[in-house]
Amino acid sequence: MKVKMRIVFLIVFAVIFSGFSYSQAELPNVTIVTTGGTIAEKVDPKTGAAVPAVSGKDLIEAVPGLSKIANIKVVNFSNIDSSQITPDIWAKLSKAVDGILEDPKVSGVVITHGTDTMAEGAYFLELTLKSNKPVVFVGAMRDASELSPDGPANILNAVTQVCSKVAQDWGVTVTMNQYICSARDVRKTQTTNVQTFNSGEKGYLGYIAMGEVYRFNDALRRQKLPLPEKLPNVVLISEYAGADGRLLRYAVDSGVNGIVVEGVGAGNVNAKTYEAIKYALKKGIPVVITSRVYHGAVLPIYGGAGGGATLEKEGAILAGDLISPKARLLLMLALPYTKGDINKLKEILNR
Ligand code: ASP
Repeated sequence: MKVKMRIVFLIVFAVIFSGFSYSQAELPNVTIVTTGGTIAEKVDPKTGAAVPAVSGKDLIEAVPGLSKIANIKVVNFSNIDSSQITPDIWAKLSKAVDGILEDPKVSGVVITHGTDTMAEGAYFLELTLKSNKPVVFVGAMRDASELSPDGPANILNAVTQVCSKVAQDWGVTVTMNQYICSARDVRKTQTTNVQTFNSGEKGYLGYIAMGEVYRFNDALRRQKLPLPEKLPNVVLISEYAGADGRLLRYAVDSGVNGIVVEGVGAGNVNAKTYEAIKYALKKGIPVVITSRVYHGAVLPIYGGAGGGATLEKEGAILAGDLISPKARLLLMLALPYTKGDINKLKEILNR
């Protein structure tokens, strides 16, 4: 009798187990790579300030229902505030994510990241990842110890997006508070509100509700560049009323490889900054012009000492509607690739 019971138990166990493994095998495989940020932070009661505190495992355990939509693997890449991240770290992250995506069984990757530099990080990976599988950057505006943290729902939506049939060709996105934004056009627009990421007049790529992705737009103007052995030193200097060009001259004299000048309006600077830009160009340092204005592109409209048309004639490169920190990243990747070919550099920055 005991033996019979044991056999029945084994059969029941085997049926349950095979059913379980079958349904798991039916689910897509998604890897979550954690880097840190508010999503992995808690307030330290001693100081009252948020600090890194939550492991990748804790993050996933805080998301009910995740295991019903995908088989999740967690890779703890780092646990740092995104204000501390550098392009060199994103280069390592890009290689790590490509390594994960090489596995044909992996459908896509979700990257948890601080929101402060998330728009830049997403763009860096968009430019450098070899794989075209979905990669979703996600974070939180409210840390894990707040009354209603937004991280868990954001992670669930990010995994939903990776698994969705309608969301396979967007490349890298920033997906927060149900809205999906392209890596190229997204920016953080509010310092403390959960609805902080948007792409301005370019619009959202899509929206996630009730476990479904609603597709609004295609991700246009995607481009790829190889990761160089070493990233060049490129600085970003903003124009303002009364700027005297000294920071630009200092940058040149201290040996930078490229400069992004965030101009006013449609990409204009004053006469002193203009002189400093000419100083840089004469020394062979590429200068890229962006705008500090929220919407619109840099265009060769104005003449005179420092107008966009004059700057372009002088050899500066106008970066269209790419925002300044992203133009800096693009220049960092384009410089080693174009190896001094200014027309090729222009073509990449203007694309
Ligand atoms: N300071 C945080 C960061 O790592 C902000 C956030 O994640 O929302 O960017």
